[in-house]
Amino acid sequence: MMDIFEFYRKDEWPHVFCPGCGNGTVMNCFFRAFNKVGWKLDNTVFVSGIGCSSRIPLYINSDAIHTTHGRAIAFATGLKLSRPELDVVVFTGDGDLGAIGGNHFINGCRRNVDLDVVCINNNIYGMTGGQASITTPHDYMSTTTPLGNKEYPFDLAEIAVAAGANYVARWTTKHVHELTKSMATSLTKKGFNFIEVVAQCPTNFGRRNKMAEPSSLLEWFKESSVRRDKARAAAIDHVDLNLAGQITIGEFVSRDRACYHERKGGSAHGNGH
Ligand code: SF4
Repeated sequence: MMDIFEFYRKDEWPHVFCPGCGNGTVMNCFFRAFNKVGWKLDNTVFVSGIGCSSRIPLYINSDAIHTTHGRAIAFATGLKLSRPELDVVVFTGDGDLGAIGGNHFINGCRRNVDLDVVCINNNIYGMTGGQASITTPHDYMSTTTPLGNKEYPFDLAEIAVAAGANYVARWTTKHVHELTKSMATSLTKKGFNFIEVVAQCPTNFGRRNKMAEPSSLLEWFKESSVRRDKARAAAIDHVDLNLAGQITIGEFVSRDRACYHERKGGSAHGNGH
């Protein structure tokens, strides 16, 4: 078993994350899953875009590509296609993946290249100062929605299911055991595997929404989380596509569509089937 201090790049410490940020919890869960499945740092490349969560690969003692905003999936796809023997993991955030990188995200799920993607959804643009993102809940505050967000959020995990990802799960940083287990499952499954983690940003989301303490945000996650099967029933009953502010959690899908490398096609005379 690898020691946690072998996993982290100590010469990059101290890290840039604010006290109480959820990124540390996600990193810790990922380290445990990585260790459990026996992956090796010298065979793994971590890819990220731009944002607080996209700094995570810089702190892992492995090769990393810190790419342009929204393009982590595109870079990771190119890397995996050219070096299929490598394991490729993407760390990204809600703004990076779902907003500026939204089309790469949808088509990454559809293409089903063998990648593991962890999206840390902190409900806000944290690094740039707290602007509303595509996952900011309805009526919540940000620097660009000082009277409350008029929009309803994107549901990243449901998009991944609809677009064809092989494995999709959503947890919060309150659900560390479930999250660690899902991460281990994702690492051992082929294809495009997507885990969304709703995580606390006390600095730019919490303090604008009367939850400045990280513990208040964790309590909010606990109170708002509901298993997806029950939430969907509630949504149908109430004709409420926003699920009344609930955070749906659980393993959404686990299937075995042939991933990109396993499919036929690509020969000069192929019929495309
Ligand atoms: Fe974490 Fe928010 Fe600080 Fe970014 S701004 S490091 S997401 S607490």
